Amino acid sequence: MRLTDKEIKVVAFDADDTLWDCQSWFDDVERECGELLKPWATQEEVTKGLFATERGNMELLGYGTKAFTISLVENAVKMTHGEITGDIVLRLIELGKSLLRFPTNPLPEVKETLKRLYDDGRYRLVVFTKGELLDQESKLKRSGLAGFFEYMETVSNKGMDEYVALCEHLGVSPNEMVMVGNSFRSDIAPALAVGCFTIHIPYHVVWELEKSEEYPHEHLQKISAFSEILDILSVK
Ligand SMILES: [Mg+2]
Repeated sequence: MRLTDKEIKVVAFDADDTLWDCQSWFDDVERECGELLKPWATQEEVTKGLFATERGNMELLGYGTKAFTISLVENAVKMTHGEITGDIVLRLIELGKSLLRFPTNPLPEVKETLKRLYDDGRYRLVVFTKGELLDQESKLKRSGLAGFFEYMETVSNKGMDEYVALCEHLGVSPNEMVMVGNSFRSDIAPALAVGCFTIHIPYHVVWELEKSEEYPHEHLQKISAFSEILDILSVK
C-alpha cells in the first residue's frame, strides 16, 4: 500500500535494530557473561537469571546500557552466591562499557534509503528512540547517519503519551506521521493506537522484553527490506 494519497509529513525512525544492529552485541555480552560464570551456573541459568533481574530493575533503572550493566553484575553475584571475585566484576563492567562503544554500522540499505528520502525533500526525517540520552546520541553520531535527520528524541519508554508528545512537538497530527521500527511493542502498537501510520521491519533477534503479540491493522505495513520504504512513500 502506498501512502502517497495520505498527508504524510514526518517519517520517524526507531534506532536500535532498525538503523543499526544492537541486540546481537548485547547477546554476545550475555554469552561471555555465561562463560565467566561457568563454574557456578549453566548458560541457560545465567540467561534466565539475567532476564529476571533486568525485569525486576526495569521500573527503577529503565532501558539502556547502564541498567543492563548493573543487572549483569547483580545477576552474577546472585548466580555465584556471593563467591564472584573482583576480577570478574571488573570484567563484567568492562563488557557493559563495551556496549557504549560498539560500531553502529548502518544495516543493509539504510544509508542509501535515507539519502534518497532526504534528497527527495518531501518528508521531515526524525529519530525516535528509547534508552539513555548520551548513549543514543553517541550511537547516532557513530553511525554517520545524523545528517539525514532534523531531530532526535530519546525517551525512557515509548508509549501512547510519548507518540502524542512527539507529534505535538513536531507540529503534526498523528495521521501525518509514519513510524518505522523493528519492535512491534514499542514502535508499532502505541503508534497505531494514537493514529500514526506504521512500517514494521522485524529484525532477526528480538530482546526478550520486547517480544509481543502482532496483529494486522489498516495503518500497518510489514516489510523485510529497508528500501521498501521508498516505494511506500513513492520516492524515486
Ligand atoms: Mg529497535
